[in-house]
Amino acid sequence: MLLSSPDRSQIRNCKDCGKEIRVFNTLQNRCRDCTIKRHKPIKQRGPKTLQWEKFRDTVARPHLDRRDGIACHKCGVMPPKKEDGTYYRHDVEHTKKRGSHADLKFDVSLMVYLCRDCHIEETDTLRSAKIA
Ligand SMILES: [Zn+2]
Ligand SMILES: [Zn+2]
Repeated sequence: MLLSSPDRSQIRNCKDCGKEIRVFNTLQNRCRDCTIKRHKPIKQRGPKTLQWEKFRDTVARPHLDRRDGIACHKCGVMPPKKEDGTYYRHDVEHTKKRGSHADLKFDVSLMVYLCRDCHIEETDTLRSAKIA
């Protein structure tokens, strides 16, 4: 009589970085880090987005440039340089989450530049903190 409950997990190598991972379903083929890295923000379109983008380009970025400079607020990395010698800008991230602070969405004192890595780390941290 074989009653040992079958362990359905299996060891695979992450498709991106090759690290060994234990998976529990056939769809999973990347380690957590690579899954986060590949996560691209959903493109939003609409009047609200346009309003925000206009604000970000004309108000938030010039303000942050003056106040903090253009390096990542968290790790200090510089954004990539353009062909013409000027720099791109990192993501503008709200230090307070928008959900319950909708009225603070356009308050530049609550904004910082975050590079993509820190941005992802930050949002992931907040998400898992909410679940816990
Ligand atoms: Zn990986
Ligand atoms: Zn950073």
